Amino acid sequence: MQTINIGDVSIVYSVEQRPRRKYVAIEIVAHNQINVLIPPSFDHLEVESWLRREAGWVLKQLHTQSPTGILPAKHFANGEQFWFQGNLFPLAIAYQPVSTALVELGNAQLHVVLPSDFRLNPSNEPIRRALITWYAEQAREQLPERIEAFGPIVGAWPTRLKISDYKSRWGSCSHDGTIAFNWRIIQAPLFAMDYVVVHELTHRIHHGHGPAFHAAIQAILPNAAERRQWFKQHAPDLRW
Ligand SMILES: [Zn+2]
Repeated sequence: MQTINIGDVSIVYSVEQRPRRKYVAIEIVAHNQINVLIPPSFDHLEVESWLRREAGWVLKQLHTQSPTGILPAKHFANGEQFWFQGNLFPLAIAYQPVSTALVELGNAQLHVVLPSDFRLNPSNEPIRRALITWYAEQAREQLPERIEAFGPIVGAWPTRLKISDYKSRWGSCSHDGTIAFNWRIIQAPLFAMDYVVVHELTHRIHHGHGPAFHAAIQAILPNAAERRQWFKQHAPDLRW
């Protein structure tokens, strides 16, 4: 593992030679941690200057892609903090004779109860899956209320509402009027989540992201930039 500083970002990287590669590539391992994949003809000592040369592109990848490699951005360990509606809750993992995983918010903790035999499972994937199911349920319960609150103000409604597991986008609005929200937005405080709701509802009227689109949002949410900023600032912690 080596560290390189690009601007004010510190990136931890490892280098791996891949026999069949023709070009240098990167694999995102965790937040600001990458694996540089190099072809056999590429000198290890060239990696640092390659990273400096491609800094703009590398930073963009780190911002737009979620970790795909071995180490997840979250470890799903006891006490690890998870966002829910703008508050951080520590994870409390327990194993009990239950048939399916249960997730519950209580006593300022996010409780995950797993079937006893999962204790021997070395992977944290069952915890991640249980959490995703729970967050998606919360999103499915709460987003219709926000649409009811903002629909009359925007003057538009979705024809269909979907909760999706997008890796990088927070929401989408398709031509048939279906609005999909990433379940991950339920991690955000209401003031930030409402920005995504208004953004997608406004797409029912203005399709692109032109001046008319932004003016329409600004008229409803004067501090839209501040609301977006919350997502920009916390994105790495929300994408798991
Ligand atoms: Zn948009």
